[in-house]
Amino acid sequence: MASQARKRMPHALLLAGPVGMGKRDFAANLVQALSCEDPQEGGQGCGFCSGCRLQRAGSHPDNMNLFPQEGRQTISVDQIRQVQTHLALKARQSNVKTVTILPAEAMTLNAANSLLKVLEEPPGKTVLILVTAIVSRLPMTIRSRCQRLLFSPPHQEEAQLWLRQRLPSSRERELKILLTLVGGAPLRALQYAEQDFLSLRKHFIKNLFFLAQDKADPLEIAQNHLKNDLGEPLYWMSTLVGDILRLKSGTSGKFLVNHDIADSLQLLAERTDFKMLFALLEKIDRDLWLWKGQISVNPQLLLEGLLIQWFWCFSEVNHEYT
Ligand SMILES: [Zn+2]
Repeated sequence: MASQARKRMPHALLLAGPVGMGKRDFAANLVQALSCEDPQEGGQGCGFCSGCRLQRAGSHPDNMNLFPQEGRQTISVDQIRQVQTHLALKARQSNVKTVTILPAEAMTLNAANSLLKVLEEPPGKTVLILVTAIVSRLPMTIRSRCQRLLFSPPHQEEAQLWLRQRLPSSRERELKILLTLVGGAPLRALQYAEQDFLSLRKHFIKNLFFLAQDKADPLEIAQNHLKNDLGEPLYWMSTLVGDILRLKSGTSGKFLVNHDIADSLQLLAERTDFKMLFALLEKIDRDLWLWKGQISVNPQLLLEGLLIQWFWCFSEVNHEYT
C-alpha cells in the first residue's frame, strides 16, 4: 500500500480560500519541492540545487505560471493553448512538469473549457495547480476534476462573542478552536459544543498521534470510534492533513484549522512528504464522499483502511521523491 500511495501525486490541485491565506506561497513551495534534485528529508526543496535556483528565479523550463496578461483581467484560451504545448513537450530539467494558474477564476469560459480537456486526459507526470479566492466562479466540471485544498479564514471576533454568551463556562481557547473547526459558522459551533465534539476530537487525535508513532493498533482505534458517526472523524482527519500540508509550505501555525495542536502537527510534517500527504488526503476525501453519499460501505473496513494509510504516511522516514 505504501508504494502505491507513494507514486501518487494528484494531477490537478485546487487551492481555494480567501486572499491573504498563503495559497500563492504554498503553490510556489510545492513547485520548488517537485523541481528539487536533492529534496530534504521532509520532501521540501533544498534551495541550493539548480532545480530550486531556476524555480526561484522564475526560469525553470518545466514549470509554467499563468497570469492574466498585462493590462487584462482574464486568462485567455490562447494562454491555455500554450499550456497544452508546454505539457506536450518532454520535461527538460526535472521529472515532473507543472502549471500554476492564478487566479484560476480569471479564465474565460473558453479558456476553462480548453483546460477541461487537459484535466480529462492529463499527460503523464504533470501537476496543475489552480489558485482561487472565488471557487464558485470556476465551472463545476473543473472543480470536480481537482483535488481541493481549502485555506480557511481565522475565527471572527463577532462570532466568538456570540458563542461566548451561549457557552459562558467555556474557555476562550475552546471557543476559538470550535469556530475554526466549523469554518467560522457560529450555530454549527454551538451544536459542536453541545454534542461535546471537542472531547471526541481530542481523543481521536491522541490516537492518531500514537498511531503515527507505531504505539497504537489501527484496528482497535477503528473499533473505538465506530460508536460515533464516522463523518466527523473523517472530516477531522482531512483538516489535519490539510494543516500538515500548509505547515510544510511554511504557513504559520496560527493560521491552521487545528491551531491548538500546531506544534504536534509540525512534528508529523517533518516525518512525511507532499506525495504521501496528498495520497492520504485523496483517500480521506474519497471515503468522506462515499460515507456522505450513504453508499453501502462497511464503516469498520473504511476506517481501518484510512488509519493504516495514516500510519504509512508518517511511519516511513525514507520516502522516495520521484
Ligand atoms: Zn533543490
